[in-house]
Amino acid sequence: MAVDYFTGDSDIITTNISEHYVDKARKLPWRIAPGGHLPDPYHIWLSEVMLQQTTVATVTGYFEKFINRWPTVGDLAAEKESELLAAWAGLGYYARARNLHRCAGYVVDNHGGILPHKESELLKLPGIGSYTAAAIAAIAFGERAVIVDANIERLITRLCRIETPLPAAKAAIRAAMDQLTPAQRAGDFAQACMDIGATICTARQPKCDLCPVADHCAAFAADDMERYPVKPAKKAKPVRKARFFWIERDGALLLTVRPQQGMLAAMRALPDDDWAAAQDGDGRPPKAGDNGSWTIFDNIVQHSFTHFSLEVDLAVYHPEKSATNIGENIATIENEIANACWWPLAEIADAGLPTLYAKAVKWKLRGRI
Ligand code: SF4
Repeated sequence: MAVDYFTGDSDIITTNISEHYVDKARKLPWRIAPGGHLPDPYHIWLSEVMLQQTTVATVTGYFEKFINRWPTVGDLAAEKESELLAAWAGLGYYARARNLHRCAGYVVDNHGGILPHKESELLKLPGIGSYTAAAIAAIAFGERAVIVDANIERLITRLCRIETPLPAAKAAIRAAMDQLTPAQRAGDFAQACMDIGATICTARQPKCDLCPVADHCAAFAADDMERYPVKPAKKAKPVRKARFFWIERDGALLLTVRPQQGMLAAMRALPDDDWAAAQDGDGRPPKAGDNGSWTIFDNIVQHSFTHFSLEVDLAVYHPEKSATNIGENIATIENEIANACWWPLAEIADAGLPTLYAKAVKWKLRGRI
């Protein structure tokens, strides 16, 4: 027998949430007004990929830049991956941009540049996971699909007072959302839930007096809203070390293009000590042996990745201090660095550096440009 997750009538919850959306839907550049024509599937795909791990406020500018520059899936597929990665710089989680490009190519080659309608077909596309497939099917094609993002997780766990910690609670949350999701306009319903989660049922101090389902909310009745979703016990992240190298000549900075595989693959970056390939970087500059020509600044940047934190030192090269100026001059160093290129410092914002490297550049340039 199916479990009923709600203390109140789930049909009334669905109706209240849907009606609330008619008046209060957030206006977002990838959306159409509630009840209107269905939006462009490419816009929904792009925005949903960008919104993973990223706020609406941050995504909005990137989304507009992308659709202006690449108005169709075909335009995106025809672009070089390096250009997409540079335009993505600052959004983080760069595998998303690479998957987007790969998937666009696949859609052009196998579906004539049109995304398929069915959730099951969307799931077969490279790089499209269960959340994105459900979101595109429901929001862009009007299919009934069950969508669960972090906002919906919070809303559902509070409505139902789900005591199981995340991520173990995901199956129950999905089942409860399935119970609420209507047969028609499932996309509008999911977006309504996302909006309530983002603006009313917030992580801290939810605005329950504005909530259309407060009368049916188990956490509100028990006055313990912020207890949900229940989080798993936190494990401390390991801390790793890296060193970046600053080599400057005539107002230009020496950059490299990172390897095609691994972390931040194929992106422009400062040369570094290969921190991504090992537990810690080896700290050695491009040309070892003459440490007198480098000034080391310790721990200038701290950056958090999913599974570890990184502390970055910056080594700044001073060719005039080199004791072995024949073997250790800028030209030698340049030859040592794979894919080296000189980038004008005045235009460094256009280099498309990942946030980690952009933070180091900002630290070095503060007060200069
Ligand atoms: Fe969230 Fe409060 Fe609404 Fe419950 S009543 S769903 S806790 S905003």
